Amino acid sequence: MKRSWNGLRRRVTVAGLAAGAFLFASCEAGQASGKGARVLVFTKTAGFRHDSIPAAIAALRELGATHGFEVVATEDAAVFEDSHLAQYRAVVWLLTTGDILDPAQQGAFERYVQGGGGYVGVHSAADTEYDWHFYGGLVGAYFKSHPPGTPTATIHVSDRRHPSTAPLPERWDRTDEWYNYQAAPAGNVHVLARLDERTYAGGEMGDNHPTAWCHHYSGGRGWYTGGGHTIAAYAEPLFRAHLLGGIQWAAGLSDGPCGDAPVSGPDKPRQGHRCGTSAATFSSLALLSTLFLLRERR
Ligand SMILES: [Zn+2]
Repeated sequence: MKRSWNGLRRRVTVAGLAAGAFLFASCEAGQASGKGARVLVFTKTAGFRHDSIPAAIAALRELGATHGFEVVATEDAAVFEDSHLAQYRAVVWLLTTGDILDPAQQGAFERYVQGGGGYVGVHSAADTEYDWHFYGGLVGAYFKSHPPGTPTATIHVSDRRHPSTAPLPERWDRTDEWYNYQAAPAGNVHVLARLDERTYAGGEMGDNHPTAWCHHYSGGRGWYTGGGHTIAAYAEPLFRAHLLGGIQWAAGLSDGPCGDAPVSGPDKPRQGHRCGTSAATFSSLALLSTLFLLRERR
C-alpha cells in the first residue's frame, strides 16, 4: 500500500495547497476591490424613530450591491460581540437614537474600533448614547436641537479631497432637517462641510456649523454626516454619493486624506477583519487534510 499512500498524500497536498492559494488570492483581491467586504448597518432606536429607516437601509443595500460590499442590516444589539463584529469592515449607525447598547456591547464596539474597525454615523447617530464617553468622541458631536421642518439650506463643502465630498459641489443646496449640535466637534476631527446659517432659519452655531466630518479615532476611522432625516434624501444622487464615500473611507475600502492626515491604509492592522475567515478556512483545510492522511495510514 506504500505506493498508493504516497500518491494519495501527493494529491491531498497539491489539493490543499491549491485551495490555500485560491483562498489567499481571494482574500487579497477582496482587499483591493472591496469584494467580499461586509458592512453592518445598525438601526436600533430607543428614542425618536425616523420613518426613513427602511429607505435608508434599501439605499445602502443598493450602494453595496453596486460597489462590491455586502450590507447586513440589524436592530439587534446582541451582534455587538467581538467575534461577530470582526466580520465587518465598518458599522453604520444609521438613524439610531437613545441608549441602545449595554456596557458589555459597548466594550465590544470599543475593541472593534481600536482594532481598526470603521464607524459611520448618519443624522441621529448624534442623538444616540449620550452617556458613553467613547462614543461621544467617536461621533464627534451630540445633537442639541433643530429648527422645525426640513428647510433648504446651503452647505459649503470646505474639503473636496475626501471620498465623501469629492463628488459634491462647493455650494451644495439641499433639503433636510438641520441639527444644531451641543458643540462643534473638536480634537482631531476634520470638518468636511459646514452649513451656511444665513440660508435658513434656526441655526444656532454661527459661522462654525459643521455638518460632515471625519477623523482617525482610537485606532479606527470615524465619519459622520448630519443629513438623512427624510425618505427623499436616500434617493438623491449626491447624498447617496456622499454616504457611499463615507462608508468606503471608514471601511478602508478607499483611501483619501482626512485633513492633514496622510493618505494611508487602515490605521492599524485589523485583527483579521479582512481575511480572518479565509485564514481560518485555510487552517481548517490543513487540519482536515492531516486528519484524513492519518486516518488513511491506519
Ligand atoms: Zn431627523
